[in-house]
Amino acid sequence: MSTTWGQLGNKLINQAKSKKIPIAGQFELTSRCNLKCKMCYVARPINDKEAMHSERSAEEWIRLAHEARDEGMLYLLLTGGEIFIRPDFKRIYEETSMMGFNIELYTNATMITPEIAKWLSRIPPSRIGITMYGASPETYGKVCGNANGFESAVRGIDLLLSKDINLWLKTTVIQDNAKDFDELAEFAEKRGVEFGIVNYISPRREDCSTCPESHRLSPKELIEYELYVDKYFRDKPKETLNKKQADECSNITDVTDKKLIENKNDAFKCPSGKCAFWVTWDGKMTPCALMNNPHSSPFEKGFSAAWNELQDLCSSVPICRECDQCSLKDYCMSCPARLQVETGFYDKPAQYLCELAKIRKNL
Ligand code: SF4
Ligand code: SF4
Repeated sequence: MSTTWGQLGNKLINQAKSKKIPIAGQFELTSRCNLKCKMCYVARPINDKEAMHSERSAEEWIRLAHEARDEGMLYLLLTGGEIFIRPDFKRIYEETSMMGFNIELYTNATMITPEIAKWLSRIPPSRIGITMYGASPETYGKVCGNANGFESAVRGIDLLLSKDINLWLKTTVIQDNAKDFDELAEFAEKRGVEFGIVNYISPRREDCSTCPESHRLSPKELIEYELYVDKYFRDKPKETLNKKQADECSNITDVTDKKLIENKNDAFKCPSGKCAFWVTWDGKMTPCALMNNPHSSPFEKGFSAAWNELQDLCSSVPICRECDQCSLKDYCMSCPARLQVETGFYDKPAQYLCELAKIRKNL
């Protein structure tokens, strides 16, 4: 029987997990963005001087990638903020590409020009994940504070597709764009690309005056939305539109060997801190995108020491006993990161997640 690339990838991730090899790295190159999405957990204004000052230089990211490769990193996600606002992004991308990683880029596509599309087509990433925030200028105006963002994103997507660059689309659902689902799915279908939904909107990872969670769907609305989306995809012939898992875990949780995931004494059931890590724009190595803590300092201590420290820190994250014994846990997306951003504690049940799980079970 032949093995698909996906199966091979899962096998590699499972093996890396059991050997504690940091196979999947995610570099958040900036917290700044040209859009101002209401629900973003990190976005800062494009000219935020303080953020610019704390961002790590291209040299630092490139050196970190070298060190991570020596420790076994194979998959690299370059994300933000918006990666294309960095004038040195081209250099970071070219140098990390030359290291042989399987690279994915996350972008909102609004800054893609014909020159960028042409440049990327010469050394294409494995794929590009593009978030669309709505299906019209009106929705982009409401969600991102920039109505022109819609046209720019569509132009960017079509430029990349015209260069045969492998991409997939996703949307982050909130109150203001939930009604756009059909049009977005049709947009993806027309272009023959996969489409995914980010359905969990987390509170801000960093201290900030805005509250992304105030824009998210209520538990009841979200479950209704999920049911609608499932039906939409079910009713489609398989070859016309594929649904993709698209939350913040999608890069690393597609793991088939459950035996390796289940460890009763481990708060993390996903690969975070075992074979996957995140590095924030200001240089913290954390288990995943949602977390500011626990963290180690790879730029100061070197990758290897920081990775070892992160694993130790993750193993001391407390398990939520109530979640562990909860009859709803099979219906719940509870994990240390989500509990922490929702409640401030790794081991305290979160009301939003509990309500979601309750409704999901009843259905
Ligand atoms: S800790 Fe939670 S949010 Fe983070 S990758 Fe794991 S399951 Fe996903
Ligand atoms: S968050 Fe609530 S529903 Fe989910 S496992 Fe914990 S106690 Fe159960």
